[in-house]
Amino acid sequence: MCGIVGAVAQRDVSEILVEGLQRLEYRGYDSAGVAILDEQGNLGRARRVGKVKQLRNALTEQPLSGGTGIAHTRWATHGEPSERNAHPHLSCDDIAVVHNGIIENHVELRSMLQGLGYVFASDTDTEVIAHLVHHELKSADSLLAAVQVTVKQLHGAYGTVVVDRRQPERLVVARSGSPLVIGYGVGEHFVASDQLALLPVTRRFAFLEEGDVAEVTRREVNIFDIDGNAVERDITESNVSHDAGDKGQYRHYMMKEIHEQPMALQRTLDGRLANGKVIDEAFGENAAQLLSKVKHVQIIACGTSYHAGMTARYWLEQHANVSCNVEIASEFRYRRSHVFPDSLLVTISQSGETADTLAALRLAKEMGYMASLTICNVPGSSLVRESDMAYMMKAGAEIGVASTKAFTVQLAALAMLTGAIGAYNGMSADTQAQLVQSLQALPSKVEQTLALNDDIEALAEDFADKQHALFLGRGDQYPIAMEGALKLKEISYIHAEAYASGELKHGPLALIDADMPVIVVAPNNELLEKLHSNVEEVRARGGLMYVFADVDAKFESDDTMKVIPVPHCDEFIAPIIYTLPLQLLSYYVALIKGTDVDQPRNLAKSVTVE
Ligand code: GLU
Repeated sequence: MCGIVGAVAQRDVSEILVEGLQRLEYRGYDSAGVAILDEQGNLGRARRVGKVKQLRNALTEQPLSGGTGIAHTRWATHGEPSERNAHPHLSCDDIAVVHNGIIENHVELRSMLQGLGYVFASDTDTEVIAHLVHHELKSADSLLAAVQVTVKQLHGAYGTVVVDRRQPERLVVARSGSPLVIGYGVGEHFVASDQLALLPVTRRFAFLEEGDVAEVTRREVNIFDIDGNAVERDITESNVSHDAGDKGQYRHYMMKEIHEQPMALQRTLDGRLANGKVIDEAFGENAAQLLSKVKHVQIIACGTSYHAGMTARYWLEQHANVSCNVEIASEFRYRRSHVFPDSLLVTISQSGETADTLAALRLAKEMGYMASLTICNVPGSSLVRESDMAYMMKAGAEIGVASTKAFTVQLAALAMLTGAIGAYNGMSADTQAQLVQSLQALPSKVEQTLALNDDIEALAEDFADKQHALFLGRGDQYPIAMEGALKLKEISYIHAEAYASGELKHGPLALIDADMPVIVVAPNNELLEKLHSNVEEVRARGGLMYVFADVDAKFESDDTMKVIPVPHCDEFIAPIIYTLPLQLLSYYVALIKGTDVDQPRNLAKSVTVE
């Protein structure tokens, strides 16, 4: 789930590897390491807990050099963050391995390998790969063959790169559930979990497909598919430019972060879905044992994260067959509430330091919840340290105060939680597979939806002179309407309210007139007919409507209504997709209003005070 870089070249590759790791730093990690094969045929290794800079300092003091090497930034899933658990892992000083993802059957493999006499030096799941390859090399005639036999024995998700001291100038890489890309240079080749790591050395890339194993030498790259057939993967010229620390081509961080969503979602999903299922250990080591017992979920969050929780309630009750309550942290912590049996407490916070949420977690611990899980974007934050389980989002640093990519990544995490809990509560294998499939399609759907950018920029002009706005949604789109209203309030200072559309006639209809724009989110779901009626209620009162509707939802633009067609998507991921046009709308309205988009007045990014 974190970073992999590898190189095989005539020149010394140590700087290429460390620079590559540095370019992947924005993903978050807890330790870093490198292994390099020197000219004498020895594997040298350096590992450090903390930043890549510390690894770089270690290498300045004790340099490693050679033409073949692998490097890794780790986000621990099995075994604490420590030097002995950092990658690369070795077997008998012959084999070095880096790995992203989770090997689910590591316990069985470990005891089998111990039975064969292998001694383990770490607590990671990864180390089984090193020893297994070493063991298979006793009968296989090449490193490639040994890795091919090894991966057949692995369950779970991996992107892995292997080096053998005895077969220099080659890397063998394998991908299943965690991405790997091969970079083509002149007389040298590279591998990485993300092309961004390799942009200083090449722009020509081939992306491995699921099940691929490849042998990479200085002169050749030979790729084999899951059945062992030699295959070609297209080599493409990359036009990506990247600098995680600045705004790049964008005027504001918020816009940059809106457009980073496909990448952020992809990173978050990588290595956590396999064989039509959500991997339980995405929620932490031993998560399966706790998740299998959950019968009720209590979600605690604030602000945008609270809206993510509200959406999850619809998902968990409908698909995972468990009951779910959602509450604002500042309310929960000061009132008396009751704990249902087998209840999982879920906190959601981008920073992991939100004071009210943290206080609520501490209180809940005394109340006797079965277990706690946090969904969080910052490794090592207080919520992560103090919860029994943690789902680490991979949204990357979010700088804009108004949350965008963190929200959609939270939703993806909660969709995965629904799949994981559902699997123990009667969710059919088909439904699980469908959920996984729609999550896998999510990054490209998001990309497609962000193409609405220019239409929404034009639409924003209608809001230039408005003081108020009403957002409407039904079902799992109701929290999305709430999030849309919050975004507009936060950055354009327009007063905005969200209502479940069925509530209109119980009060807010009184507000409707030509000065009150009404924004409606309307995917094509079973509530569509009801929503059509609500829209008519507004129309009859002379309201002006902006309807974000599925291309098939049969809304048509006229004098009182502007329809913005949204690409068709699977119902499950619709809340994530419909968030996007609302983010863009609030951004462009704020631009017109001339507010400070990235740092709106009176607000802070990480709310560490009560
Ligand atoms: N599961 C492996 C570990 O805990 C790999 C983690 C990662 O993807 O960084 O070491």
